[in-house]
Amino acid sequence: MTGLIHSTESFGTVDGPGIRLGIFFQGCPMRCLYCHNPDTWETGGGTEMTVPELLALYDRNRAFYRGGGITATGGEPMMQLPFLTALFTAAHQSGIHTCLDTSGICFQPEHPEKAAALLAVTDLVMLDIKHIDDSRHRELTGHSNENILAFADFISAQGVPLWIRQVIVPGWTDDPAEQFRLGERISRLKTLCGLDVLPYHDFGRKKYEALHLPYPLADTAPVSPETAAAARDQIMRGLRAGLRTHSL
Ligand code: SF4
Repeated sequence: MTGLIHSTESFGTVDGPGIRLGIFFQGCPMRCLYCHNPDTWETGGGTEMTVPELLALYDRNRAFYRGGGITATGGEPMMQLPFLTALFTAAHQSGIHTCLDTSGICFQPEHPEKAAALLAVTDLVMLDIKHIDDSRHRELTGHSNENILAFADFISAQGVPLWIRQVIVPGWTDDPAEQFRLGERISRLKTLCGLDVLPYHDFGRKKYEALHLPYPLADTAPVSPETAAAARDQIMRGLRAGLRTHSL
């Protein structure tokens, strides 16, 4: 079995704990307006790689990955679910910490056993909630957030540690009321153990130019770390309010 891999990063430090081998899967069905990896979208590209080939990359630098592990990212890793499950299964057998960085869009509630098999060998999920409002989510990504929120609930029900991530984009996710609502919604997730709130940046602009694609947020200014920190505080307020409601 082979997977289509866009690229790998030997010393990743932002997608999960510790120093990690980042594996960027090729292909993504979403079209987030702020995506900085449009070169991972197409399903036909990438390099065919096997599980042993990827684990050999890990073994080459194994000494550096203490406290880290492997992160599957992309693109959307769950588009290649059988290969991803095989990779994480083999990684687990070798004692490697596995982290899944996903949009959750490929979750199939009608086939929960497939996601359950993956989560059985996943130590941490980093799940992006692009927008808490469904209609705004459709405008921002081209897809409903229904599946994504269902996947968040499923991950929690499976007992797998979960980080939620949101990017603060001016005019999209900078409304304090929506941030509060996001916090309330994720307060239901019993395995929630992290919240990453990231400022929008336009580092991907050059990739769009290289692909001859228009840059969708050409008029949108990057966000400061302070603005992202204030948004995180607001999400946390919603989360605490949600937790108080559940405890009544
Ligand atoms: S889910 Fe990720 S890779 Fe896919 S379009 Fe959105 S930001 Fe880009």
